[in-house]
Amino acid sequence: MISIEEALQQLLAHVQALPEETKHPLQALGQVLAEDVAADFDIPPLDNTAMDGYAVRAEDTAGAAEASPRELSVIGEVAAGYVFEGALAPGTAVRIMTGAPIPEGADAVVPFEETDEPFTRPPEGARSLSGTVHVLKEAVTGANVRRAGEDVRAGDGVLQRGTVLRPQEIGVIASLGRNEVRVIRRPVVAVLSTGDELLEPGQPRQGARIYDANAYSVAAQVRRFGGEPLLLGIAPDTVEALTAKIQEGLAADMLITSAGVSKGDYDVVKDVLAKEGEVAFWTVAMKPGKPLAFGTFERDGRRIPHIGLPGNPVSSMVAFELFGRPAIMKMMGKRGWLRPVVRAITTDRITNVDDPRLFLARCSVTRRDGRYYASLTGSQGSGILTSMAKANGLTLIPAEVDAVEEGEEIDVLMLDWSLGDEWGSWTDDSEGDTPLPGTTVIGPADRSV
Ligand code: AMP
Ligand code: MG
Repeated sequence: MISIEEALQQLLAHVQALPEETKHPLQALGQVLAEDVAADFDIPPLDNTAMDGYAVRAEDTAGAAEASPRELSVIGEVAAGYVFEGALAPGTAVRIMTGAPIPEGADAVVPFEETDEPFTRPPEGARSLSGTVHVLKEAVTGANVRRAGEDVRAGDGVLQRGTVLRPQEIGVIASLGRNEVRVIRRPVVAVLSTGDELLEPGQPRQGARIYDANAYSVAAQVRRFGGEPLLLGIAPDTVEALTAKIQEGLAADMLITSAGVSKGDYDVVKDVLAKEGEVAFWTVAMKPGKPLAFGTFERDGRRIPHIGLPGNPVSSMVAFELFGRPAIMKMMGKRGWLRPVVRAITTDRITNVDDPRLFLARCSVTRRDGRYYASLTGSQGSGILTSMAKANGLTLIPAEVDAVEEGEEIDVLMLDWSLGDEWGSWTDDSEGDTPLPGTTVIGPADRSV
């Protein structure tokens, strides 16, 4: 039996970041930037107003107050996207809308609320711009003016290579006028289920056969962490069928199979792997999910990693979480794939007697009165997928602990917090003392469920 840490290390040694590609920014959400993005113009491009109001010369408003308004003559109007043709002479103002460039000669904007406009404004359509406005409050130079380049200056580096593109980065790229961006490609991950007993969902029920759950949960995990699943369907337990499907899967960047890697007579996956590729079979110190195969196949000079997940539906999902997720994130060029772990109070007694494996029990974490509580979500049999559906976390009960009592604190790996998963921009250099590699403990006060 090998440790989770050792298995992950060996696996990641065979996984590399993929090549770059050019994409429309919206298609690149969650991908890693493969270029330094710089600005070749100022944002905003011109000094402009932050308020609707009147562009004025601040000195013309000196001493203005409710009791002593300053009268200015209105010489025109300008909206966002247009430039006012002309300049302000002393004693004049231009009506101006948020985002519009400051007219020549003006150096401040008086909001409508600080003029008599709200009270004297004529009905829509009958408005005269040759009238006057009374300023009721003194404006200082620069008031309500947004400076050209205050967001981004021409020549600035704006986003660095290696950044994970979140919605805000996508927006920044768009604000630079770009509709293309260089990113690291998403991995295509072939997903194959194996077993004579499996039926494709949608097919009629048949006696002893069961529907294929793993291809669906695992393909959804692949997608959740940024990969593109390629569903290969079901291979029956024959060497020929399996070999053919695996060959098909080698067009992908990684191949994930489920089942057929334990010790049973019909577990042919292991025989085919041993014949076709370079493979290691591991018994990993985790519960659930003990049997795991990992290897590589050679195809046209490429080495394609293969993860052979256990067949039981919970085991396959948990093994994917521990090994498939980091592999995909590394291929996507992400540097951190830490999962948040919280300290929670268990509402159950949890036993792991004489088991030399880390116990990842399905649980539901809730927050009450500023503390986290973890409750097991039902039977922990590795075939009970519904207890995974009720869970938002996995306990991390160390191998050497035989039992934790109700009310004691435990570590829980949070499955539904996106810190470090979809985005993966989060790394932590602190000494992590969690029982699981690739996780970090965060203070209970830091986040809410
Ligand atoms: P195996 O690893 O082939 O011995 O399978 C272990 C258990 O997982 C058996 O009960 C299988 O029927 C079950 N199993 C294998 N593959 C799937 C799948 N794709 N969906 C649901 N259950 C599966
Ligand atoms: Mg089987």
